[in-house]
Amino acid sequence: MEKLVFERPFIKKLNSGMPSKFGLKTRMEPITEIDEVSVKELIDKYGSPLFVISEKTIRKTYKSAERAFSTRYPKVQFAWSYKTNYLDAVCRVFHKEGAWAEVVSGFEYEKALRNNNPGDQIIFNGPDKSRKDLELATANGSLIHIDHFDELYALIDLAEKSEKKPKVAIRINMDTGIYPQWDRFGFNYENGEAWDALNRIMLSGNLDLVGLHTHIGTFILSADAYGKAAAKLADLAVSLERKYNHVIKYIDMGGGFASNSNLKGAYLPGSDTVPGIDEYADAISSALINSAIKPDNLPLLILETGRALIDEAGYLLGTVLANKRMADGRRSTILDIGVNILFTAFWYDHNIRPAQPFSEHSEETAIYGPLCMNIDVLREAVDFPPLKKDDRVVINRVGAYNMTQWMQFITMRPNVVMIDEKGGVHIIRRNETIDDLVSLEKLPPHLK
Ligand SMILES: *Cc1c(COP(=O)(O)O)cnc(C)c1O
Repeated sequence: MEKLVFERPFIKKLNSGMPSKFGLKTRMEPITEIDEVSVKELIDKYGSPLFVISEKTIRKTYKSAERAFSTRYPKVQFAWSYKTNYLDAVCRVFHKEGAWAEVVSGFEYEKALRNNNPGDQIIFNGPDKSRKDLELATANGSLIHIDHFDELYALIDLAEKSEKKPKVAIRINMDTGIYPQWDRFGFNYENGEAWDALNRIMLSGNLDLVGLHTHIGTFILSADAYGKAAAKLADLAVSLERKYNHVIKYIDMGGGFASNSNLKGAYLPGSDTVPGIDEYADAISSALINSAIKPDNLPLLILETGRALIDEAGYLLGTVLANKRMADGRRSTILDIGVNILFTAFWYDHNIRPAQPFSEHSEETAIYGPLCMNIDVLREAVDFPPLKKDDRVVINRVGAYNMTQWMQFITMRPNVVMIDEKGGVHIIRRNETIDDLVSLEKLPPHLK
């Protein structure tokens, strides 16, 4: 007879759904399938942990964002923020939907080229562009968003020796009522630095000023801040028209719209507090159409939305390794999902759900990852049903930033699969093996 698993008995009040000061307990439902593909089968076939991306959700989210903006403003263009998730398959879904590419490093720029983006549909942002990057972007006619004066002077110098005029915009930071203000990127609006940079570009004569750009922050919960930012960019566009008779082609409002994830410390869940995409679209489009920009000169509106377009499409599946009682009697559950692959666990109270039916009783539980590190905590304390070893869990809304900020640490990075619109499952990044890792290492001769 098989030996039963022993768990030390412990007397503890279970929560069976009685009302508390927050109201009735909301019933947790298991997530047993994703786009009608069984979670159990996904794990059996592709291993645990496993990232899953729903192509259907990406396309649906993208279409509704595009609709929200294009019904309110005549010319709209999205550019996919590579750093949010730069797996090629993900980027290509966005590109097929019509998004350009937005990159912040030479490596990302190369990735965008390999994904067949025409040069003039790649936006190059960020404070770190090498001379070589700038030359390549100029030769390809890409949109170079200048971050600081040193870059501006490098471009003026480069343009003197180059056959093509670099197409440039400047990144502008400003007070939009959001604090702390993100003022380390780009040129400041209020102190006149942005206007100074624009004058230098215009007077240099060898740069083609095509746009104005801002990115006011990330997970911005105020749509109003975007209205303020758009109004300030419109003011600069009008000043350029007035002084130089120069009409810019686009205003790029950056990214930063919140997703429905639950920020740590927030009192209510994200889905109840986050502005809808329509509210952001309303604030931005109103500011632009009500500005003093002449109707014939209305610029293209570019959006570099990252998080809000991909978070919902990503899932992370995992397995219970063990249950434990802590010294103080608290229950803890250990999963095979570490913070090294779920970086956003530091910011969000992730929604972790069982992947099979479970007991209706629940208990305050700490949920840990498998790393031999004290910081490896997925949830400090969550009302959670008792799961058994080998039970499965699903964490939803993990599509943004995890598959770029993950790191190989103690455990390796797992498979990533995409479920296509017909329910077909494809590996879009295979799991790492020890061979992948040691292939990068070299031994000095005396240690061989
Ligand atoms: C990161 C980034 C984005 C995307 O931001 P989200 O908050 O994910 O929408 C867009 N533009 C720039 C310049 C960025 O650095």
